[in-house]
Amino acid sequence: MKTVNHWIGGKTVEGASGNHGPVTDPATGEVTTQVALASAEEVDAAVRAAKEAFQTWGQSSLAARTKVLFAYRALLDANRDAIAELITAEHGKVHSDALGEVARGLEIVELACGITTQLKGELSTSVSNRVDVAAIRQPLGVVAGITPFNFPAMVPMWMFPLAIACGNTFVLKPSEKDPSAANKLAELAQEAGLPDGVLNVVHGDKVAVDALLAHPDVAAVSFVGSTPIARYIHTTASANGKRVQALGGAKNHMLVLPDADLDAAADAAVSAAYGSAGERCMAISAVVAVGSIGDALVDKIRERAEKIKIGPGDDPTSEMGPLITAAHRDKVASYVHGAADQGAEVVLDGTGYTVDGYENGHWIGLSLLDKVSTDSDAYRDEIFGPVLCVLRAETYEEGVALINASPFGNGTAIFTRDGGAARRFQLEIQAGMVGVNVPIPVPVGYHSFGGWKDSLFGDHHIYGNDGIHFYTRGKVVTTRWPDPSEAPAGVDLGFPRNH
Ligand code: NAD
Repeated sequence: MKTVNHWIGGKTVEGASGNHGPVTDPATGEVTTQVALASAEEVDAAVRAAKEAFQTWGQSSLAARTKVLFAYRALLDANRDAIAELITAEHGKVHSDALGEVARGLEIVELACGITTQLKGELSTSVSNRVDVAAIRQPLGVVAGITPFNFPAMVPMWMFPLAIACGNTFVLKPSEKDPSAANKLAELAQEAGLPDGVLNVVHGDKVAVDALLAHPDVAAVSFVGSTPIARYIHTTASANGKRVQALGGAKNHMLVLPDADLDAAADAAVSAAYGSAGERCMAISAVVAVGSIGDALVDKIRERAEKIKIGPGDDPTSEMGPLITAAHRDKVASYVHGAADQGAEVVLDGTGYTVDGYENGHWIGLSLLDKVSTDSDAYRDEIFGPVLCVLRAETYEEGVALINASPFGNGTAIFTRDGGAARRFQLEIQAGMVGVNVPIPVPVGYHSFGGWKDSLFGDHHIYGNDGIHFYTRGKVVTTRWPDPSEAPAGVDLGFPRNH
């Protein structure tokens, strides 16, 4: 059986603790791989490698760093399919979707290639008599990244390319459910010329995460995952004196106004709710239909959802793959089973679905629940599966109040032809990312990604300018070069003032 080991100091390191976890192909239900689960000592070895590499990488020129990043960009581009295949084999998402994930990760590498213009600093000349002030930003040291299963390539790429472009070194702890893509990313970075120890990968579970959170040489932690763990990471890393950004779960709403193009809205709802089997933090999981359009919209969503082809991710005709584990599939199904008792109309019930020839895969079909109440479990919890809830609101105001009452605030979208309503929505809605007739408003690499409320703990969004800010710390240098002809200023115990 294939074993995924750690990548420390530029080479594969077998797990000395001997602990391994199973990695399953979600389409077949078979354990195909085992992944090393790091002990605290193995995490320490990775942090030490990163700390040592920081001595030189932190001092390296921008030219040296961007040379590597441009080469890395080219290698990633050439290996899109290979990375996507690793993702599909362990995550289950269809190949085209996996390619999309790689493309969005590449955007951040491209941003990192331009770090030269982002780290220029600021200079104010003659702020006082022959005094100049420069503001510069410097790397933090060793940064840790802890990532979820649902984007095994993209989410790590939200983090480490910018962190290393800023001069930090990095220890990545990917999800133990689909670990192979992370090693591929690290191997390609070495091939691109990244010095050993700058990017390390330790695999593991809570033991490895806790070791990173407690390690005195980890300066900052970027986390992406579920809300309870994000809250834990933020609290623990902060208590240990680390800079931390922790992105959590979501329940993303799509508000459809009566004047919207209902066909476009239905297309968008189906794509955003069921793409990647709903295992996206930016998936639309709740559609709020305003006014009288509810029945027509639900019909259009149902018609489209019934046509989606479910199958293994490596079959080019499949549009939706399986869920990550059998346990998760059963949990998702339980929300559909409980929905009618909690007042919903079950328009489509996708539970009990199987794919011929793949009977042990983690399959579930598409479910559509209508007239869902805001106090039902299907609405309140992040289901993270192909289950779309439709809620009804009489007015725009009622819809916005419903969305703003959610504890989550990741992404949201409005579908309308009314520019005034769309403008109002942008300003009134409590979420970090807003789409206007765009169902999955994941910002481009040169803007930042992040939610509000229980969808993000910390004050920095990820990548874009916020990412560069997060991975650097400011320093302000005040300089005075006196005119040789000036008499010395003499002693003055007063607080320095600018003249
Ligand atoms: P998860 O929180 O279970 O795991 C995320 C990471 O934390 C993994 O590396 C895992 O090993 C580690 N971890 C798990 N339990 C832990 C514990 N008790 N202590 C310490 N570390 C622990 O999340 P997941 O199931 O892998 O991913 C799905 C979740 O991630 C969803 O909630 C989804 O919304 C969220 N997500 C959010 C974003 C975002 O940008 N906000 C993006 C992708 C995924």
